Amino acid sequence: MKCSGAHLLTPIYLKLDDAMPWPEQERAFYVLSRDGLFLCRNTPFFRSCVPMGEFPSELAGQAPFMKLSYPRIPRRLMERVIGFFDLIGDRHASEAAVLIAWNRAANAIEIVVPDQVGLVGKTWSGKPYPIELEYEVPALPPHLALLGDIHSHVDGPAYASSMDRCDEVYRPGLHIVVGRILDEPPQIHCEATADGYRFSVRDLSLILEGYHRRRIDEVPPDWVAKVAVKPWSSTHQCDSPDKAGPASGAARTSPPSLGSGSSGPAPQAQDRADAAPKPEESAHGTRASSPPPCSCGPMPDDAPSPSQP
Ligand SMILES: [Zn+2]
Repeated sequence: MKCSGAHLLTPIYLKLDDAMPWPEQERAFYVLSRDGLFLCRNTPFFRSCVPMGEFPSELAGQAPFMKLSYPRIPRRLMERVIGFFDLIGDRHASEAAVLIAWNRAANAIEIVVPDQVGLVGKTWSGKPYPIELEYEVPALPPHLALLGDIHSHVDGPAYASSMDRCDEVYRPGLHIVVGRILDEPPQIHCEATADGYRFSVRDLSLILEGYHRRRIDEVPPDWVAKVAVKPWSSTHQCDSPDKAGPASGAARTSPPSLGSGSSGPAPQAQDRADAAPKPEESAHGTRASSPPPCSCGPMPDDAPSPSQP
C-alpha cells in the first residue's frame, strides 16, 4: 500500500504482504515493514533496500504521553493502606504491598491484599532491614479490574527501584511507592506505565483524594494475615538484569512526567540519573509475579551481613 502526498517527498510503502510487488517505477521510496523502515532505490546500476534508523523528516512529530483518568484513591482508604505499611514495618521491618482494583459493580476503588513474603535481613549491628518482597498477582474476579499497586519501602526513600521497574514492565497502570514511613506524612512516589513505558506522576492529586494521617487502628486483620516474613539469605537468587524481558530495556530511563493539567509529558522530564537514590539507599525491591526477576540493588552501607542465615 502506497502512502504519498504533496508533503511527502519520498513515498512510503506499507508492506502488508510478503508478495508485495517491487515498485519498479519509483526512483526512491521507503518500505515500512515489521522489520523496520527501509530506504529503497532503483538506479540503472543497482536496486537497494537499506534499513533506516530515522524516519522521514516530512512526517509530523509525536512525543510519548499518558493522560490519566483513573478514579482517585479515596483518602480514608489510602490512610488505611499507609497504616497497614506502618504496622508491618513496625512489627516485622518488612515491606508490604497492596493491589488497587476497580470494582465495576460498586463503582468504587477496592484494595486487594495478595499473599506476600517479606525478606528481612539484618545490618551488621543486628538491626532488621527490609530487603525484598515477593508476591503473585492473584486472578481477580470478573467484577474487579486491576489498576495498579502500592508497596512500601518502610523507612527507605520512595522511588521506583530497578527491581520495581522490571516487575512493572508487564503491568500497565499505577505504581505507587510509600517510603520514609516514620514521617507523617510519609513520602509517596507514583509512576504510571503503559506498554513498558514509564511516566512520572508528579501531581499526586491526579490519583489521590488526599492524605491526612495514617489509620493503623482501621487496618483489617485479614490484610495483616496475608504477610509472612522470612529471613533474607545471601544465597537468595538474584538474577542479572540482562534476564529481564525485552521491553525492560534502556530508553526507559527518563520517564516523562504527568503534571497538573498536563495533557502530555512535561518537557522537563525527570532525569532519573539525578533523581536516583544514593547507592546506600537502594537496597529495596519488590518482586511481583510473572516478569523475569531483576537485579537486587546495591547494598546499603549498613547492609545486611552476607553471613545472615
Ligand atoms: Zn520498591
